[in-house]
Amino acid sequence: MAVPFRRTSKTKKRMRRTHLKKSVGALTTCPKCGATLRPHRACTKCGYYNGKEVIAVAEKEEN
Ligand SMILES: [Zn+2]
Repeated sequence: MAVPFRRTSKTKKRMRRTHLKKSVGALTTCPKCGATLRPHRACTKCGYYNGKEVIAVAEKEEN
């Protein structure tokens, strides 16, 4: 098996990895509350999807 002649420097490694990054992806806004969310998902802020409340979102967070 071939062995690299020199160890890849930190700079060369980092320069190569500048192209390795995650993309944010598609985002839409909730028509009810205006929160940013992924398309075809119920809103995590108000619990609405397609004009109806589909999930119950807790209004107050206290335990
Ligand atoms: Zn919403």
